[in-house]
Amino acid sequence: HYRCRSAFKLLEIDDKFHVLRPGLSVLDCGAAPGAWSQVAVQRVNALGTDPAAPTGFVLGVDLLRISPLEGAVFLSEADIADPSTLRTIQSLLPAEKVDVILSDVAPNATGIKNLDHQKQINLCLGLLNLSQSILKPKGTMLCKFWDGHDSWLLQNRLKEQFQDVRTIKPQASRKDSAESYYLARLYKGK
Ligand code: SAM
Repeated sequence: HYRCRSAFKLLEIDDKFHVLRPGLSVLDCGAAPGAWSQVAVQRVNALGTDPAAPTGFVLGVDLLRISPLEGAVFLSEADIADPSTLRTIQSLLPAEKVDVILSDVAPNATGIKNLDHQKQINLCLGLLNLSQSILKPKGTMLCKFWDGHDSWLLQNRLKEQFQDVRTIKPQASRKDSAESYYLARLYKGK
């Protein structure tokens, strides 16, 4: 009953790397239609379904409208690249910072491969900037990127700011050949 097949990519990544666990606070960027948020709500125990485990929190943000989901807070019609979005995000978080930033953000494809690649990398770099204000030290960032000649730039920035950075190509996204994810763990913080 996931809203989108993309859920299986996050499930696959999380089964292997244990990014999400009960009690964690998650920012889900590019969250519409909400499948990743569904996975996150379950895995961080945002609904308190497991009373023995700590209760987490999920905030999803997207340019589009996101239908309500029990256990998640959604900020719809918001551009993650817009500086004013940061303040709104902060006002919706239960604490100052989150443990995990997820980004499955994908800009509208123009069909021009290089341009799409660059837009995508720029969005990820923007998120990395955002991390300074909203990611806890030792936190995790998982972000989608489309491979291309600027990927190294993003990878280098991630490596400067996180102790452990790896590239993941989920089975579930094999068909979309250019799509990969960077999993960056142990944020060095500021
Ligand atoms: N992970 C989602 C799920 O499982 O339901 C699917 C995400 S979809 C592949 C990518 C999303 O990124 C789109 O909904 C799009 O509107 C959003 N997006 C693209 N650019 C954005 C931006 N600048 N700010 C916020 N969301 C953006």
